[in-house]
Amino acid sequence: MHNVKFSVVEKNSHSVTLIGMSKTLLVKNVHPLGKEAVDLLVLDGLIAQITPAGSTQNQADTVIDGNNQLLLPGLVNAHAHIDKNLIGQPWHRNELQGATIRDLVDYERKIQLEEGLSTRTQSKLDVEASIAAGTTHIRTHVDIDPEIGLTGFEGVLGTKEEFKDRLTMQTVAFPQRGMLINPGTVELLEEALKMGADAMGGLDPSTVDRDPTQHINIVFDLAQKYGVEVDIHLHEPGMLGAFSVELITERTQALGMQGLVTISHVFCLGMVDDGYLNRLIDQILENDITIMSLGSGKGDFPPLKKLNDAGVRLCTGTDGVRDTWGPYNYVDMLERIKLMGYRSGFRRDEDVEMLLKVATYGGAAVMKDDSYGLEVGKAADFVIVPGEATTQAVVELRPRSYVIKRGRIVAKDGALITD
Ligand SMILES: [Zn+2]
Repeated sequence: MHNVKFSVVEKNSHSVTLIGMSKTLLVKNVHPLGKEAVDLLVLDGLIAQITPAGSTQNQADTVIDGNNQLLLPGLVNAHAHIDKNLIGQPWHRNELQGATIRDLVDYERKIQLEEGLSTRTQSKLDVEASIAAGTTHIRTHVDIDPEIGLTGFEGVLGTKEEFKDRLTMQTVAFPQRGMLINPGTVELLEEALKMGADAMGGLDPSTVDRDPTQHINIVFDLAQKYGVEVDIHLHEPGMLGAFSVELITERTQALGMQGLVTISHVFCLGMVDDGYLNRLIDQILENDITIMSLGSGKGDFPPLKKLNDAGVRLCTGTDGVRDTWGPYNYVDMLERIKLMGYRSGFRRDEDVEMLLKVATYGGAAVMKDDSYGLEVGKAADFVIVPGEATTQAVVELRPRSYVIKRGRIVAKDGALITD
């Protein structure tokens, strides 16, 4: 028997405040991924019961009337950069010159230093906006280099700790400004792994670091030494990028790290001919490597439907948002799906639904969250959003009615709930 107590939600223009914590939560009349309406009972953060709508009594500490809306699993942003954004700042007029990775990171660092922003504050603002938009999980890459040392990483760790009950977060130690070309970076990356980074990052072994074998040696050696995963940014085009994919898959195989490696962006998969692409897909599948794509770039990006149909693990994310790289990215993962579908030329609902799966189950898989899913016994991480069909939610992008993390209401009507 659970004590009946009521949770009160107060609302002002910026946020709502939940008074009183609850152990049981009953969500009535929602359509999981657009299917038949159900009631869903949550007990101590886990989904305890799913029954046909209208069949459950009001015997919970908190009751939400889902009002015939959609129920989605928590949105998973599996590729973010929450350490560097300009959220809350006056609009930055982008005056970037050039288009190489070097041009982008130099411009980014110049603006960051001029503005003197706190990574702790900016990462917190990113997380707050993300939760309000229905994100329950974030894997974030964090810049580490001799110029800023570990200050960015420490700021993100502070935010991770502050939000540990409201967001599942993983950090990737990331050499955004190069590793071999930037002496002192490797030592700092190792320090971040000692401090608890969940994955070892890498960046363009040839075009940035100029020595692909040595780059991959260091990335994989550190990952093995600290027992973490690998997540490498690979922007390299065409055959050069494909060569890097081969080096990464070969190393994964040699070290027995199947299922522990992600390659992010991998534009080259959209550039090589079909025969070569098929061989790369075989190597990716043999080593259970995850491909992260957000459909970015002015040109080619991985053929998502072909990869999905072949059985390749896929995940997606926002990448950096409200930053100096470009004006389009923001925190809403449904908007990300819309952009990916638009860029992929998808028309059919089932193709958009595939992308939603990538942005939910795909991301949870790469983050190794076994408690994830809209099933009894899984963590109560979900989003209630207006609409009849998931593609409608992706297209209309209406404010999320409720965001639930581990059975707790963390956002309502598009606004974060504060304690
Ligand atoms: Zn990135």
